[in-house]
Amino acid sequence: MALKQYEFWFVVGSQDLYGDDVLRQVDEHSRVMVDAWNQDASIPGTVVWKPVVRNSEEIYSTLTAANQDPNCAGVITWMHTFSPSKMWIRGFNALQKPLLHVNTQFNRDIPWDKIDMDFMNLNQSAHGDREHGFITARMRLQHKVISGHWEDPNMRRRMAGWMRAAIGAYESRRLRVLRISDNMRDVAVTEGDKVEAHIKFGWQVDHYGVEDIIRMVDAVTESEVDAQMAEYQELYDIATDDIESVRYQAREEVALKKFLEEGKFGAFHTNFQDLQQLRQLPGLAAQDLMRQGYGFAGEGDWKTAALCRVMKLMTADCNGGTAFMEDYTYNFDPACGMNMGAHMLEVCPTVACEKPKIKVVPLGIGDREPPARLTFKAKKGPAILVTIIDMGDRFRMIVNDVECQEQEHEMPNLPVAAVLWKPLPSLETSAEAWIYAGGAHHSVISYDLTAEEMRDFAEIMNIEFIHIGKETEINSFRKELTWNDLIWKLR
Ligand code: MN
Repeated sequence: MALKQYEFWFVVGSQDLYGDDVLRQVDEHSRVMVDAWNQDASIPGTVVWKPVVRNSEEIYSTLTAANQDPNCAGVITWMHTFSPSKMWIRGFNALQKPLLHVNTQFNRDIPWDKIDMDFMNLNQSAHGDREHGFITARMRLQHKVISGHWEDPNMRRRMAGWMRAAIGAYESRRLRVLRISDNMRDVAVTEGDKVEAHIKFGWQVDHYGVEDIIRMVDAVTESEVDAQMAEYQELYDIATDDIESVRYQAREEVALKKFLEEGKFGAFHTNFQDLQQLRQLPGLAAQDLMRQGYGFAGEGDWKTAALCRVMKLMTADCNGGTAFMEDYTYNFDPACGMNMGAHMLEVCPTVACEKPKIKVVPLGIGDREPPARLTFKAKKGPAILVTIIDMGDRFRMIVNDVECQEQEHEMPNLPVAAVLWKPLPSLETSAEAWIYAGGAHHSVISYDLTAEEMRDFAEIMNIEFIHIGKETEINSFRKELTWNDLIWKLR
């Protein structure tokens, strides 16, 4: 239910030629479809029925009204009958919302013994949707096409996926990112053009000094810390005697949350090189804020923090888990090639398969007190890793399909949460492809999203999309990178 506030306008095209009776039936059919979609719990968002559009004026006024409606996250078109596409040019020229063209049909099967010319004239989306497809192709519209019967679970699953992408775009365009300090010194991949990110993704990325946070931390009261500690006690096992250190993280979390709420920020980053008088790098505090849906990344990585927020909002009705992640170390055992991801502290507890434990362990870098953090084993199952890099002339999103594995071995000396995954098509090919593509060591892992959904998001945002999956073959993959370089230079 969490995503029902996002509305998708279902706009069915036709023309006056058919007469009122046919158009009335078109409206009846589309109402039945909208009602059924809205009763399907697997479809995020609300599909909003609109009366059939018959001419250029109605199309233009409907699509510009969609632009103006603050709840509208996208437009879904369907040509039940034939809708001559010159009528769509003015409206499409004005459309600013993501567009999905569904090629479907009210009846599933041909009624063999009853079909006549009237039936065929009413149910001719095979015909009308091709005319519609010509104009979207001719106008080079950024859009998605999904074909399939409207009751088919696979068609609905793909439509739901596109809706998640459009919800991501909607939220991306109003996201504010809080930078606490700057990027980690000397690191390249976490840099990027913030003005271009604002233009392309809508991210307003603003910096504050660590002292601004410290003032908030110092102002937190003991009773606020107590309340935060009570939440920790409910959600986690406190597996340390060093309660003072845990209380300091609680103090940091209360301060950070106030800062985020007051500034309407959806994501933030820290930088362990610039903690000034902060006594601990936020570990538990960052983890618990991620659990609540805030985007986060370490070392000044505002791009990954923003991506983490967008992906969490795309899946606000799911419980698989979405987390900031970092490729850390390999298991090169030929029988079980795996990548182990973690971070120095900040792994989001939404990917835990057990109740997380709070521990206090010294941190080798950052030069501060030992920070409290959550440790846990992670879930198994299919997931994706997503990263965004700045190629200088464009943003590139890279997605790798992975299979997260059960952690069979204890790692008693490792004081952080870790996720183990087998990347597709194999550890070596996936790593080569990711490295050739320039993928960051930072990423966002999601057990709830698929590569197709992230491709839809990337296309809506007009950025490059690269997929590494079971079909990836390294030589053709390298050619794709070369061709993409040329294509994106021409854009
Ligand atoms: Mn890192």
